[in-house]
Parts: sequence; structure tokens; C-alpha cells
Amino acid sequence: NLGTLASCIFCKIIKGEIPSMKLVETDLSFSFLDIGPLSKGHALVIPKYHAEKMHELPDEYLADSMPIAKKIAIAQGAENYNILQNNGRIAHQEVPHVHFHVIPKPAATDKE
Ligand code: 5GP
Ligand code: ZN
Repeated sequence: NLGTLASCIFCKIIKGEIPSMKLVETDLSFSFLDIGPLSKGHALVIPKYHAEKMHELPDEYLADSMPIAKKIAIAQGAENYNILQNNGRIAHQEVPHVHFHVIPKPAATDKE
């Protein structure tokens, strides 16, 4: 599997070696629900390429992942949401494989 790292948990999720709640998959990207959601529906979009930080990711993967984040946001209703992407430990990156968070922001009156 070209471009993956055996010891990486997100590479393992892509390969199905760690189970996940899969959402959308393409040849270059994979998306799934976050195991520790900040809100209901919190999703992650990851490239099928092991780059630690976004600037190391080939453009073709970046270009494939963004429409998936958009598709997920639309599927969730696209009222209020954050797209988040952390690079480096100081910037709060915990998993060293590029990932885009799609985090719905329910209105204060919404029930979980
Ligand atoms: P970061 O802080 O690196 O931007 O975010 C990493 C995210 O990955 C966290 O929100 C965390 O809950 C999620 N995460 C870490 N390990 C797993 C896992 O094994 N499965 C899933 N679905 N999410 C994970
Ligand atoms: Zn990886």
C-alpha cells in the first residue's frame, strides 16, 4: 500500500486494520466518525497517504479531501460547523497523519 506507514493509526484505519465508522471513501481519501466527538457527527477526512502535516501532502490528495469535507457538511445540514486541521504538537495535533475535522455546531437550543 503505497504511501502508508505501518505504525500509524490512521493508516491502519484506511487499511481496515482498525475498525472505524466509515462515511465516504474515494481512491485518495477516507472519512469516518471521530472516536471522541466534540459534537454529534464530528467527522474526520484523511488522505490515503501518510503525510504528517498539510504542507507535506501532495496537492492531488488535498484536492480530493476538501470536497469530501464539503459533502459531509452538507449531509449534516450545513447550518453551523467548523473545519479544523492541526499541524504539529504545539498546534494541538495528536495524530501525526493529516486529517480535517468536520465539527457540527448545534445551536444552543438543539438536543444532542
Ligand atoms: P488532532 O488533535 O490530532 O487534530 O485530532 C485527532 C483526532 O483523532 C481526535 O479528535 C481523536 O478523537 C481522533 N482519534 C484518535 N484516535 C482515533 C481512532 O482510533 N479512531 C477514531 N475514529 N478517531 C480517533
Ligand atoms: Zn498515516
